[in-house]
Amino acid sequence: MNNGIKVLETLKEEISEVEYNRYIRHLTYDPKKSINGLAVFYAPNALVVNWIKKKYSEKIAHLFEVKFDEKVIVEITLKSAIKSKKMKINNEVKQGNSLLNPSHSFSNFMVGGSNQFAYAAVKSVSENAGNVYNPLFIYGGVGLGKTHLMQAAGNVFQNEGKVVIYTTVEQFLNDFTRSIRNNTMERFREKYRKCDVLLIDDIQFLSNKEAIQEEFFHTFEALKGDGKQIIFTADKHPKKIGGLEARLQSRFEWGLVADIQPPELETKIAIIKKKCEINKVVLSKDIINYIATVIESNVREIEGILSKLHAYSQLMHIDIDLAFTKNVLKDQMKENRENLTMDTITQVVAKDLNIKPSEIRSKGRSKNIVYARRISIYICRELTQSTMPQLAQYFGMKDHTAISHTIRKINELIEKDEDFKLKIDELTNKITTNS
Ligand code: ADP
Ligand code: MG
Repeated sequence: MNNGIKVLETLKEEISEVEYNRYIRHLTYDPKKSINGLAVFYAPNALVVNWIKKKYSEKIAHLFEVKFDEKVIVEITLKSAIKSKKMKINNEVKQGNSLLNPSHSFSNFMVGGSNQFAYAAVKSVSENAGNVYNPLFIYGGVGLGKTHLMQAAGNVFQNEGKVVIYTTVEQFLNDFTRSIRNNTMERFREKYRKCDVLLIDDIQFLSNKEAIQEEFFHTFEALKGDGKQIIFTADKHPKKIGGLEARLQSRFEWGLVADIQPPELETKIAIIKKKCEINKVVLSKDIINYIATVIESNVREIEGILSKLHAYSQLMHIDIDLAFTKNVLKDQMKENRENLTMDTITQVVAKDLNIKPSEIRSKGRSKNIVYARRISIYICRELTQSTMPQLAQYFGMKDHTAISHTIRKINELIEKDEDFKLKIDELTNKITTNS
């Protein structure tokens, strides 16, 4: 019953004292809630929760397994969070499967030149469902607020009592395959065609998936025909997605296509201030400015830095100053890169280009496989410490000369082709920010 406490004690022996005192010491174990394969720990605040989750939950689960032969799901949480999670699940049952994050609201979204067009479009859709821009298509890079905006509209609709479905293409696809397998297509269609609002996130993953495009098309037609609001997001303009049926692509552009650009400095500053306010973090002006200038565009990354700063200052009882901030940022960037493996890179590239990681590492010679392999090799060389022979072995190439040939080719392409360069930048950004 007190296995959780024992696990924390073991962890104490395995990590440095400083690390233990900074984070783990503040965790408490809840034996009552830790049943049915769950191990529940409480942390002092939301930001620390996230941080400990990322750094230690795997390790804690591993200790449960080796010490007690228990396979558990580790839950690091705030006491109040458990209740709200239950409420969320109830809501989910009531409202279809929409899992909207309530903090993704319009009032929490900072507007500037980079996102005002998208903001205005989503806002007006939220005030007039089905009647202004239908569908509304929002596109832009990673971590720029697409999901946030889309869900802000979703929250408005949900509060009005509409049935909102929020889903990613992946969930939609899983749901679809399951329905085929279980012979429940009728229920599937009922669910997606009878909702009031459909929000589909990251539509680029439809690319090259014919069967689901077909189903998707009919869902779209049914909803649109009934005047139901549809909102899409993607990482690029519908024209650039590729591997889409022409009829789908044209429908994506029927309503309004709005882009989100990386935030300019003032918007970044406003976002940081807002996040500080929400999370009750106090930072001086020079620190806010510093973070805003160093983090190029990804807002998710800004959040990561804030939570790190907050956790440090809380746990070590120190005030955050500029020198300290600089150190944390330096650490963070180094850590992002050190954690990168060739596996992670290959997975991100494979997902983005809609092929399997195993194909990238195979001897396959088809055009798209070779393309993905070359890109993966190039990015691995840029972002990891792997040597040419290691790369050759990993990607099943003959030897290191084959690797250097590939890298030369990619460099030439980057020089010549602006779109290709953008693609590489986009992937690199995805890899370094999602890991
Ligand atoms: P995307 O879906 O475009 O990858 P998200 O919507 O998930 O990005 O945004 C990443 C994080 O950044 C979220 O926590 C979101 O709340 C925050 N964020 C992004 N843009 C803004 C903004 N303009 N104002 C406030 N928060 C933002
Ligand atoms: Mg998103």
